[in-house]
This record gives sequence, C-alpha cells and structure tokens, in this order.
Amino acid sequence: MVLTANNSRVFPRQFNHDYPSAARGEGAYLFDTTGKAYLDASGGAAVSCLGHGHPRVIAAIKAQLDKIAFAHTSFFTNETTEELAQFLTDRAPAGFGRVYFLSGGSEANDTAMKLARQVHLERGHVERSHYIARHQSYHGNTVGTLSLSGYPARRAPFEPILLPNISHIAPCYAYRHQHGDESLEQYGLRAAGELEIEILRVGPDKVAAFFAETVVGSTLGAVCAAPGYFREIRRICDKYDVFMVLDEVMSGMGRTGNLFACLAEGVVPDMISIAKGLGGGYQPISALMVRDDLVETIESGSGAFMHGHTYIGHATACSAALAVQKIIDEENLLERVQRIGARVQDVLVQRLSAHQHVGDIRGRGLFLGVEFVQDKVTKRPFPRANKIAARLKKTAQENGLICYPDCGTVDGKDGDHVMLAPPFILPEEAIDELVDKLARSIDQVLGMD
Ligand code: PLP
Repeated sequence: MVLTANNSRVFPRQFNHDYPSAARGEGAYLFDTTGKAYLDASGGAAVSCLGHGHPRVIAAIKAQLDKIAFAHTSFFTNETTEELAQFLTDRAPAGFGRVYFLSGGSEANDTAMKLARQVHLERGHVERSHYIARHQSYHGNTVGTLSLSGYPARRAPFEPILLPNISHIAPCYAYRHQHGDESLEQYGLRAAGELEIEILRVGPDKVAAFFAETVVGSTLGAVCAAPGYFREIRRICDKYDVFMVLDEVMSGMGRTGNLFACLAEGVVPDMISIAKGLGGGYQPISALMVRDDLVETIESGSGAFMHGHTYIGHATACSAALAVQKIIDEENLLERVQRIGARVQDVLVQRLSAHQHVGDIRGRGLFLGVEFVQDKVTKRPFPRANKIAARLKKTAQENGLICYPDCGTVDGKDGDHVMLAPPFILPEEAIDELVDKLARSIDQVLGMD
C-alpha cells in the first residue's frame, strides 16, 4: 500500500504532505519502500552518528532485551545503565561525577531547569527563579524548554502559556553581529557582556541559570562562538552565582570532534545536556551531566531531586548508547570526525563559496552550516515568504539527499541556512556525492529567486 496523507492514521508533523516510508538503512544511506536511496547527510537532526544498521549496536540491544528490557528506577538500578554512566563521567570534563538519564533533549533541558531551581532552593537562594537564554536558539518543545528557546515561529501560537520568568540575549553570531572595527575576540567579549547587563537588569539575586547551545544547531546552522566568549560567560556566571548550562543535545557526543563540545571552548559548565548522538538514533536516550557540587547540595540536603520520569535510565536505551559510544571510542571516530569534517568543509568552500547566494560556510567537525543571502555584499537575506529552507529540504530529498535547512537565521524571521551533520562513518567517496547533490539542490531552488 502506498501511504498518502489521506490514508495514514498517523498524526503527521505536517498535513498535506506525503512522506515516503523509510524501509531500511545501511551505513550513510536510507532506503524508502520504493527502493530509492537517500544519502543521510544530517542524521535526521544530527542524530545518526554511526549511520544506520550498525550490527554491533543492534546485537547489544538484542542482548540487553534477552536479559531485561525495563525495571523501574525507583526499585532497581542495572549494570548497563551503571556502565554507561561510568563511561560518560570518565570522559566528561573534570568534576562531572553523575549522569541523569532521560529519553530526549527537551526532557534533559527541562531537568536542568528544575535541578538549577532545586539546588538554589536548598542553598537558601529562594529568589532565584529567572532563566536567561539566547535569541535564535532551540532547547526543546516542552512548555519549559520552548520558553527557553529563542525561536519565534515555534513559540508564536503558545506565547500566552510560556513561562514569564525567562529572557533572552543575543547569540554569539559573528557573521552578522561582529562590527568591522573589532576583532573576533573583542566581539566575543561584547556578546558575552550582554549576559551581565541582563543579569543586572533582572536583579543579580534572581537568576537561576543561563542556557546556551555550545555550537548553535538548527536555528543558526552550526554557529560556533567567538574565541573567549564562553570563558567570559563562565566568569559572569561565577560572579553572580548563576548556573551555566550548555545544551549539547546536537553538538555533543563527538559531533564537533570532541565528545563534549565545550572541551574546545576551555570552559567547564555546571550542567551539560546531551542527547541525539548519545544513542545515535538506535534508541531514544538523553542525559544531563551534573557537576559534583550541585549533586552534593542535593545529596547532603533533601536527599532527593524532586523529579523523575517512567523511562529514566531505561536499560535497553542505555545498552544502545553504550554500544554506540564504545564503537566511537574503539574506532577512534572522534579523530575521524575532525579529519573528514575538515575535508567536507573544504569541499563545500571549493564548490559553494563563489555562489552568489552563499553568504557563509561554517561549523566544526561534522557539524556544518551554509547560510544563504540574497545579496552577498550587504548580507541581505531572502524574505521568509520565499520559503527557501522548506523548498531546499524538499528538493534535496527528491535528489536523494537528507539535509536540514531552516529559516529565521538572521532575526528569527528572515534568513535561511542548511545544516549538515553526516555520520562519523561517512565514506570519503560520499563527500563529493553529498556536495554535488547539495549544490544541485541549491541551484534548483535559488536559481528561481
Ligand atoms: N536542544 C537542542 C540544541 C536541539 O537541537 C533539540 C532538538 O532538535 C532539543 C534540545 C530538543 O530535543 P528533543 O527533540 O529530543 O526533545
């Protein structure tokens, strides 16, 4: 049966849209039920870090299922979850001795919001209930994390039910915000300085936590912070006793070439949320890495974090993540991400930088972005009404390429980019195919505007 929008009983992401049915996956490729192949150059949304159909991950899941699929964490722990926590804390920046396992990125960030609040409360800082995040950011779709997200289009219908105790500062986005007379480092300090201004505006005793994506994913398209930006953010957070939470749901777990993306920034935050690449799509799993001093407050205080979901620490999900992470470690894939990532970025630059509508090519490791402009000199974007991102997504998929375009790049409204996040095992010979298909899709879409 061919599934169409009319005969499907699934509540789709988008109505009036026919989705091909994914039948199987193999390495960097997905195949639909008609046999058509798609090069998965974004892992969906930076998820499939090991590609599809990895036999070792599948075997690990099956072996776990043969032992135990699920035992509720209010009654039991299990060996696999313990081993994964050990694996992650061994490799995290110093001082992260505990991991709280969840099922998705939104849950991990919601958990960080609540943990920040409870730790402040247990330290006697009852006034601290305000959160600061950044414009053009995405932290999730629950009411709490959408409130954090600086994503006007997704927020719009829900504004009246979003949390009022959250404000936003500018992202660190040099391509658009760096002044001509300042160095990248000076710009980074100026951008970070906005946090101090906002903390003082809200009230220095009122802020619980600051949230930022270490490398901004879907909303900006792989934008790295200016050098020194996060060190200055850390200094400001310390000065005002504000917890620094880095959202590495997309950028973490090796995507940028480091297991934790913040390792490249020379900072240690208070919490790190990780998700997509943790289980590589083989199981839904996320986690919140928590620094020891926060854990200690709860442990020696109330003794319990007032939180929990049914599926936290799920053994099957943890078995998939443990297998994914062991493979990345044993096969030295982080080094490969750095090498192949640099190569993909080089080929993108060779092929696309002269294009009249390509404004910027950026990113780190295998987390890359291309920003489109109507005019290269003025950086004027295409109007939102042109629907460049949506058309590029559709055209690329027709051309057998899965990539991740989005709009609102400039100010949450106008501007378009495409994000690329191919698997760490992307074959070298697939790089040209990736860039060929992307270039052709861009020409097909932008050639008409
Ligand atoms: N944080 C970031 C940076 C994300 O990119 C996403 C999802 O794309 C989320 C949080 C939310 O994760 P999930 O969709 O798993 O809830």
